Amino acid sequence: MDTSLSPEEQAIAERIEELREQLGDELLILGHHYQRDSIVMHADFLGDSFMLSQMAAESNAKYIVFCGVHFMAESADILTNDDQIVVLPNMRAGCSMADMATLNEVESAWESILHEADLRDPITRDDPTAVASEDDNFLVPVTYMNSSADLKDFVGRHGGIVCTSSNAEGILKWAFDRAGKNGSVLFFPDQHLGRNTGDAMGISHDLMPTWTPGIGAMGELKGSRIILWHGFCSVHKRFTTAQIDEFRHRHPDGIVVVHPECPIDTVKASDANGSTQYIRNFVAQQEPGSHIAIGTEINMVARLADEHPDKHIECLDAEICPCSTMYMIHPAYLMDVLERIADGEKPNQIVVPASIQEGSLWALERMLSIKK
Ligand code: SF4
Repeated sequence: MDTSLSPEEQAIAERIEELREQLGDELLILGHHYQRDSIVMHADFLGDSFMLSQMAAESNAKYIVFCGVHFMAESADILTNDDQIVVLPNMRAGCSMADMATLNEVESAWESILHEADLRDPITRDDPTAVASEDDNFLVPVTYMNSSADLKDFVGRHGGIVCTSSNAEGILKWAFDRAGKNGSVLFFPDQHLGRNTGDAMGISHDLMPTWTPGIGAMGELKGSRIILWHGFCSVHKRFTTAQIDEFRHRHPDGIVVVHPECPIDTVKASDANGSTQYIRNFVAQQEPGSHIAIGTEINMVARLADEHPDKHIECLDAEICPCSTMYMIHPAYLMDVLERIADGEKPNQIVVPASIQEGSLWALERMLSIKK
């Protein structure tokens, strides 16, 4: 056991391990990179939302305890069999970005955009995901994994697809092939991931208007390529070019790597950007002695610093801030749900209603079938 834990934390950690042993192969614990160390130490797999969704889909475990946030556990429930039980240790662990797009808002925006931009709904075709012909003008919905299951269902039914930060470019190419040359993509809820990916693909910024619920479009919808929902991550929007300048002033040869949920100026001023898994690989590849500033959640940055004592790793934001909702998964909650599972209960089970299972499964399976 970890000697840096307090006696109380140590007792909780030991009990979690006893319960893990008792439950054996019936139990799978998945941990997101943004979880604290005292959770990660119990996880069977650590990964980003893309990897963990694959793990859930491939697992035969009866109980999948998801140490992450609500939308991730929903995706795991959609991808697993009906007899598998997905558990979220704290039901209040949501995602503020995911909450920035609701089904009502997206349905209302969808109708307005189809009308204003003179686009067609893929649902009107025999096969909503057929590759479009040159002169087609479909509006294809793409939702970031960080969205509720009812939005994934909407996307699945309208010929669209889910993306993560590790596959966004491949997913957008897929969507453009279905939209046609005169078509567009509605990307939600994270404007920054959409804009950064579009920019990396060479799409001009005036072809990427934003859509704010309750207000409407900022920029020209007609002829646009990506319509960006006005959502953001409250953790990643804190990283700025001023922080990069300050780091480079201290370390002129220093390296900056950030997550693509950061604003575009920050991404462009950095040396590299990518998903949490990309950042982990990028840091591992740097030379010993390198000074590296990382623009992502602090638990992951601190873990990377521990894993690479030969490198000087720091968080790009000196006023370090964890993701407050990821932080709601406390080891005591994990222990509690495992105790109850061992007692034969189904605590904090995440059940996606049958009415939205089918469409959301289509959207997720389309994503999983595409190489990055
Ligand atoms: S880091 Fe941002 S996007 Fe990720 S779970 Fe937290 S609030 Fe949501």
